[in-house]
Order: sequence, then structure tokens, then C-alpha cells
Amino acid sequence: MKRTYALSADCYIIPYPEKGKHSYIAYFPIQSLAFEINEDAAKILKSLKTKPYHTDDPSVKEFLEHLESLRVINQSKEAQPFIPYSENPEPTRTILLLSEKCNLKCLYCYNNAQSTGVMMPIRMARDTIDTIIRNAVTQKIGSIELGFHGGGEPTMNWSVLTGSFYYASEICRKEGIQLNSSICTNGIMSAEKAQWIVENINDIAVSADGTPEIQNKQRPFQNGGESFNKVASTLDIFNSHRKFYAIRLTATEYSEGKLIQVIRFLIDRFHPPIICIEPLFVCGRCETSGCKPPDDDHFIEEMIEAYKLGRENKISVQYSGNRMSLLLSRFCGAQGSNFFITPRGDVTACLEVSSREDPRADFFMYGNYDRATRRFLFDKYRFKRLTENQVQSFDSCSDCFAKWHCGGDCLAKTPDFSKVTVQRNAYRCKINKALTRDSLIRTMNEQIEFSKSVVAGL
Ligand code: SF4
Ligand code: SF4
Repeated sequence: MKRTYALSADCYIIPYPEKGKHSYIAYFPIQSLAFEINEDAAKILKSLKTKPYHTDDPSVKEFLEHLESLRVINQSKEAQPFIPYSENPEPTRTILLLSEKCNLKCLYCYNNAQSTGVMMPIRMARDTIDTIIRNAVTQKIGSIELGFHGGGEPTMNWSVLTGSFYYASEICRKEGIQLNSSICTNGIMSAEKAQWIVENINDIAVSADGTPEIQNKQRPFQNGGESFNKVASTLDIFNSHRKFYAIRLTATEYSEGKLIQVIRFLIDRFHPPIICIEPLFVCGRCETSGCKPPDDDHFIEEMIEAYKLGRENKISVQYSGNRMSLLLSRFCGAQGSNFFITPRGDVTACLEVSSREDPRADFFMYGNYDRATRRFLFDKYRFKRLTENQVQSFDSCSDCFAKWHCGGDCLAKTPDFSKVTVQRNAYRCKINKALTRDSLIRTMNEQIEFSKSVVAGL
């Protein structure tokens, strides 16, 4: 007797040539289910993706009933990741971009930071903190997050960094709210400052590019001097206190072919708990320095090796476009959560877009600090536009197996802001898909959190 079978889970069919010309992976990301299938099974699944399937063929029915037992067929429609949002920004976390100034002159600086520039005043920092604490109290949320970041280098505005931290600590103590703090720094600071960070800040990320040769080439001081030794002394202080931190590394044409050497060096010299690697995105100072990203195929090969090296050394090697363990509808909080304040008082949803001169400012800047009222004013249209950019609304991602991990990728790397939902960054897409696929196959092979079912044939 004929039966009807309808797909109830998001499903992707991924070619699996490593196992043979006619092999595929059936991947149900929201169900954390993946297994190898043959060409006939792939055809049936492809057909099921478009319409219900009717059959009385016993071998086909056996396959489909197996899928039914795995709860991906003939079930109520599965819930997809979605981040709810309100019409008005009500942030309980912020990152203060404390300074336009920087002591380094990185070849690829997204903000083209110089040795001079505007610093955030303490009053603006305090008023931002008051805003998020007020929201946390109203929303009965027991914690706030306060982060410090560029524009330039946050530690160059040291009195405001420490002053705003102590201010937040005091108000949080009075309100019974927990303060979670973070910093992203280039590591160029005195031993006293590094010590203070060890004692006060919860999460630390240090931008550093690796071996002395590459760090000094890509991240020189403003006067061209070498920065490696200075960053190394800061990392040594963090290590001497067993402080948990991440190194954030930018891969460029200069590290191409040397990435493994760089990672090995970082592991041997500093043994950081986390190394986040990003290929260069051409913007800011790249236009004058001419600095280029690594070739995509080489970067993919080197990243696969880098992951392996990380596993062998019990270090988490990460790349933002490959997040197999997460199910997300957006890449990051730029789509409706981020409340980042620039030194001039603009509200931006992206750390990389901190200047009004940035061509992406119209997309990411959605408010400003009003010095008269000491409150923030928001552009609701721009805020709504940001919140609506979840991956389910991206035509370009509709049939991508990586969509619930990648979340449509970094919005700041969009090639054309008039086509956000229909055209993503092809260079990063290729890397995201290749690395996610590699992680999927490795996870399948390790049989962690995935069905052990292997449908060998029909
Ligand atoms: S990338 Fe960061 S550390 Fe480098 S110059 Fe720009 S702000 Fe400074
Ligand atoms: S198409 Fe590109 S941006 Fe979209 S989910 Fe896939 S890898 Fe990510």
C-alpha cells in the first residue's frame, strides 16, 4: 500500500566524494543528525525537500521509515533558531570604544587608527553604564556586561577605562547585579596595567599575529618600531597569573604558508587557551598599505591543520565562520543586541565600524549619545533593519547546509549593502562551508552527538 512521507526537519544533501563518487551526507542540522547515504537515497531526500513523497516500494519505505524513526519525517514542523527582539533597544551589555588613538599602526587596521584622536570622556562612559544598569533593573536581569575595545587601543584611555570599571562595580554592588567585564587589547601596555587587567577583567582577548617576524611586520608601532617583545611581556604577565585569555590572530598574505608555524610558535611560547584566527578583510588601512588576505584554498588547508594542532595541544583553535557546535539565526549581536559606543558618542552595532566616515556607518550606526539629556537617542528604522537580518531572511543562504552555524556570516563583510540578503561574501562563504563541512565529517566520524545510524543502501 502506498504511504505518504513528508519532511519535517531542515535537511541538506552534501556530496561526500571522499567516500566515493556516489556518496552523500544527509545532514539535519537542527536535529544534530548526519549520516552517509548513497545516490538513490540522496535523490529521494532531494525530492522530499520540494514535496511529499508517495511510494509502495518496500526498500524505499524501509529507508523512509528509518528516517521517520529518527523523527525527521512525518513529525510536526521543527522549531528553527530565532532571536526575538523588541522594537526599542533595551541593552544590558555594552562595549565602550574608549579611544580613536592607537600606539600601533597595523597594516590592516579597520579604523586606520593614528597616534592622535578622540578619547571617550568619563561622563559618557558613566551614562552608558547607567543606561544598561537601568535596563537590567527594569528587566530584572541579574547581570550586565561591560567591555572595552578600540576604535584604537582602549588602554590608551586608562583613566576612563579604570574609572568606568570602578563606577560600574560600585553601582552593580548597590543594585545586587553581577558585573561581567571584558577587554580586547593589542597588548601594548605597562606591567602595571597588565597587572590591573589580571585583577579586574574577566575576559581578555589580545590581538597578536604570531612569530616576531610576522607580528613586527603586520603590527608595528606608530613609528615603525617592533612590537613583539612588548606584547610578549604582557602575555607573560597573564600567564604568570594563569589568567585565561584568547589570542586573536589576523591571517594575511604574509602568514600564508606559515600559519602552522605561527600557531606552533604561539603554543610553544605562550600556550594560550584559545587562538581565534580570522583571514584579513580588506578595509581601513589596507587601502594604503596594500595588505591582502591569504588565498582562500591555502587558508582552508592551513586551518584544517591548525584545528588538528589545537586538538593535539588541548588548545581551542577557532574561526568565526565555522561554529558546528552552535545553532544560530545570526552571526553575532550586530543583528539587534550590540550597543557599542564610539568615543564620539555614536551607537554602533559593529566594533569594526566605529567612525562615521566608514562607508558602512549608515548600516551599523543606529543612535547617538545626547550630551544635553545624557541619554541615548535611537534611529528605530535602522535598529529594526539590523534586527531583521536573521539568516532565515537571506535568500543567498536558503539552501546552505552551514546556515544555522554560520548565521549568514559577518554583516560587516557584506560586499554590497544594497544586497545584504541576496549576496554574501563569496571569499568567506567558501571558507565557512569548507571548514564547517570538515568539522561535520570529523564529528560524524567521531560519532559525537550524532546518530550512529548509517544507511548503507536501499
Ligand atoms: S588594528 Fe587595533 S591595534 Fe592595530 S592599529 Fe588598529 S586599533 Fe591599533
Ligand atoms: S551561504 Fe555563506 S553566508 Fe550564507 S550560511 Fe552559507 S556560508 Fe554562511
